[in-house]
This record gives sequence, C-alpha cells and structure tokens, in this order.
Amino acid sequence: MSEYPELYLMIDGERLSGADRMTHDVLNPATGETIGKLPLATSADLDRALDAAARGFATWRKSTPQERANVLNGAARLMRERMEDIARIAVLEQGKTLAEARIEVGMNIGLFEFYAGEVFRIYGRTLVRPEGMRSTVVHEPVGPVAAFAPWNFPIGNPGRKLGAPVAAGCSVIMKAAEETPASALAVLQCLHDAGLPTDVAQAVFGVPDEVSRHLLASPVIRKLSFTGSTVVGRQLAKLAAEDFKRTTMELGGHGPVLVFADADIERVLDTAVPQKFRNGGQVCVSPTRFIVEAPVYAAFREGFARRAAALRIGPGLAPESQMGPLANPRRVEAIDALIHEAVDAGARLHTGGERLGNQGFFYQPTVLSDVPQTARIMNEEPFGPVALLNRFESEEAMIAEANRLPYGLAAYAWTSNAARQKRLSSAIEAGMVGINTPMIGGADSPFGGIKWSGHGHEDGPEGIMACLVTKAVHEG
Ligand code: NAD
Repeated sequence: MSEYPELYLMIDGERLSGADRMTHDVLNPATGETIGKLPLATSADLDRALDAAARGFATWRKSTPQERANVLNGAARLMRERMEDIARIAVLEQGKTLAEARIEVGMNIGLFEFYAGEVFRIYGRTLVRPEGMRSTVVHEPVGPVAAFAPWNFPIGNPGRKLGAPVAAGCSVIMKAAEETPASALAVLQCLHDAGLPTDVAQAVFGVPDEVSRHLLASPVIRKLSFTGSTVVGRQLAKLAAEDFKRTTMELGGHGPVLVFADADIERVLDTAVPQKFRNGGQVCVSPTRFIVEAPVYAAFREGFARRAAALRIGPGLAPESQMGPLANPRRVEAIDALIHEAVDAGARLHTGGERLGNQGFFYQPTVLSDVPQTARIMNEEPFGPVALLNRFESEEAMIAEANRLPYGLAAYAWTSNAARQKRLSSAIEAGMVGINTPMIGGADSPFGGIKWSGHGHEDGPEGIMACLVTKAVHEG
C-alpha cells in the first residue's frame, strides 16, 4: 500500500473527524506536498477522552497478567502482519528510509513481546512481622496516563507511550505528533484489534500546548509521559507538578563520542557515520560531539567527511536512499542556521552545509571540525545531520568535554584499553553509555537520561515500573 490513510481522533472507540474541527495539514517531507488533513481535538473531545480514560482505568486495572499479555502479544502479531503497510505510512509522513521504518516496526514488536512476558513479573514482597500480623508491599497501576510522543520515531514512540501503561494496567490518552499521526493510529489499531478495550487507549491530536494544558489540568490524569525537547519538557513538568502527577521525561541530548587513538579507527568510522546520519540525525541519542584524541584526529576527520559525502540522499521509499529528507521545514531552517553560525564563528566545513534539491526537506550530511566551544551548535541539541569533530590531548580533557553540558542522555566511547573502558563507564555522566558499540538499547534495557535529558525510563522492567505506584499494606 502506498496510499496515505484517512486521519481521525480515536476517542472512546470512535473515529472522530469533520464537524467543525480545525485541521492540520500533514506533509510528505520528500515532496513538501499535503497528504492528509488531521482533525484537531476540541476541548469537548478532550473531556470525552478523559471520561473514557477514567472508565477504562477502572476496568483495566483489574485485568489479569494473562489478559494483558494476550493483548500485547496479539498486537505484536498484527504488527508483524501489517509491517509493510505501517512502515510505508511512516515513510510517507516522516521521511525516513523504508529500511529504517521496517526496523522501527520490528523494535516495537520486540517491545510489546517483552512487556507481554514482563507483566507476569510485577512482584511485590512480604515483610517479616510478629505472628498474627501480615505486611505486604504491592505495586499498583498509577492511573490514567497522558502521553506525548514526537515525530522522529513515528512508530516506536507511540509504541513506547502505549505499551507501558497497557502492561501496567493503566489507561492512556496519547497525543502523538501532529506531523506523523497515521503511524501512531496504526499502532493503536493493532492494540484495539488484539482486544484492548477501546476506552483503555485513545489517540488525540490538537494544538500541543492546548492539549497538554487541558489534560494535565484534569485530576483524572495521574501521570505524564513526554518525549521531546528539554524546553517543552520543562513547561510540562511544571504543569504536572501542580497536581503532583508522576512524570517520565525523555528529553534532549548532545551525545558525546570519545575516540581514543588506541581504537580501531576504520571500525569506528564504519559504525559511527551511519549511526550519525540514521533518521537524518533526528535522534535523541544521536552521536553529535566527536571528541577525538590528537594522534588520530586528522585521519578520523578525513575518513568521516569522505564517508558522509558518499551517502546517497533521496526519498525514503527509493531503495537506494541511505538517508531521507528531514521531517519538517522547521528542522531544515534550524540546522542550516546552526551550521552557518558555527562556520561564521570559525568552524571548518568539510562536507555538506546546504539544502538539497528544490522540493521536499532535504539537507546534506554535514561535517564540521574545530568547532568553537562557544558556538550555539556545541551547546544546543542540533537534532539533524551534522557531526561536530574536535581534537583533544588527554583523557581527562576528553571526559571534561563529555560532561560539559547539562545534558546526560547517551554517550559513546571507543578504546581498546580495558582499564580506560572501566574508568569511562563510571566517569561519563549519562543515562546510557556505549563502549565500543553504538547499541545502547533493547526491549529489555532501560532507556532514559539524567540532568536536562530528563528522568524515568522507558523499555525494560523499568518501563513498567514507571507506570506503577507502591503501596504498603499492614494487617493486624
Ligand atoms: P518542539 O519542541 O516544539 O516539539 C517536540 C515535540 O513535542 C513535538 O512532537 C510536539 O508536538 C511536542 N510538543 C510541543 N509542545 C508541546 C506541548 N506544549 N505539549 C505537548 N507536546 C508538545 O519542537 P520540534 O520542532 O517538533 O522539534 C524540535 C526539537 O525537539 C528538537 O531540536 C529536539 O531537541 C526535540 N525533539 C526531541 C525528540 C526526542 O526524541 N527526545 C523528538 C523530537 C524532537
């Protein structure tokens, strides 16, 4: 299927569109053309979703682990059957390559299957007490969740936002990105078709600030789960704090990559360059600041620029494309401004630095070196296809640069020195550290950051724990 589907709000089991609702144009980033009209929720729609979420929670909190596992496994099975359709929808509205979109569906299947097993392991404990008394500690679902998912992983982000509450016995109102609604609706549909009661998981879209204010002002919502920028995350965390709602905040990063002279430099380049330009660099754990030890700096820079310049850029549906367009015009403008400010400040441009073509939101893979530490791009998350290379003389200086920013999401290091590997794994301030590997996730592994990159986790047992509250029960 290459047709883009009809768009709607999914509230209390009903597909809502039309009426006097305003709409948002969904664009194909490869062409810039409008491919869909997304209805935006009114405040009456949001109230209806809140009522349904309260009802859905009252029943789903009593569901058995087996019922939850059946839904999650069933949804995973349906997603496998629908993989090609869902992946194509994601490419049409987000721009990434079809190969990457298929991987994203696969990761979502893995997460639902992992959670399906994990629901049987939501254990409590019994405390030692005098005879006749019993004290237990139990974990209960936190309540209805308001979940906000961004556009960079149009399948994976909604999968995370829906999967954990469903596994924990919560209900969830998801607002996925208005830029990529159809992928999110397709993920939700798999859960509903697998038997999830429709009031347990719903999808709304709207003006983001209005939707989040409306939902977070409601006492029905007991938890906020947000993935997006640190700036928006800070606003939402304040709104959640008014009512002491629990929060999981997956915010921005500025991934440092420490490359030591004793690493296998060709292997690092063969791994790091595709990793950098995956999804056009629009990845919160993207490697961004390459902190390179002096003896290998020149060779690393030359090898990086050569490989980046050789990447084939094109529409995500074209099989030969290795990188698609950026997701929206905002990203093209933002990345272009950051790159040109850095060059004006003295950074050296080795390849890229320009928009590509005269339609769609294409941008060249870009490599900058000797970037002044004060340049905005060295301090703000670029979230685009640009690598920043700088030269350092000592391990101490490299660690200091890695920890310089208030972000702490993903960090990477490449070295063959075993003692140094241990030192780095404890010295680097980040929620996820990859040493001699770009692989820092997995369905069974907690994903999350520290400091301005947020708090709480998705994936792993921690992803379910984040949707549970702890209760101590003492019986005399
Ligand atoms: P943005 O910060 O306005 O939006 C990011 C996401 O948050 C979008 O999906 C948007 O719909 C949502 N959002 C915005 N305001 C919101 C609100 N008040 N309530 C609820 N949701 C809200 O910016 P953008 O132009 O879409 O993206 C730019 C920046 O966002 C990037 O530079 C990057 O730092 C960050 N971002 C991070 C991730 C991530 O995975 N952590 C994903 C996408 C974007």
